[in-house]
Amino acid sequence: MKEYVACRSCSRVYSRYDLTDEKCPICGGELTQHWKGFVYIINHEKSLIARKMDVHENGRFALRVR
Ligand SMILES: [Zn+2]
Repeated sequence: MKEYVACRSCSRVYSRYDLTDEKCPICGGELTQHWKGFVYIINHEKSLIARKMDVHENGRFALRVR
């Protein structure tokens, strides 16, 4: 999973190949390779995980980011 990086601020997960910058395109946060647990949230309003993680939109997120 080395081609994936996660944002330290908002936990979004990106493929390196989708990024032009070393920062999160959404919030400008720092990106890291040190993250665990891949979640794909498709219905954030009904997802318990999304609620727990305080995520208010759909997308790919990391459960834990260091
Ligand atoms: Zn971010």
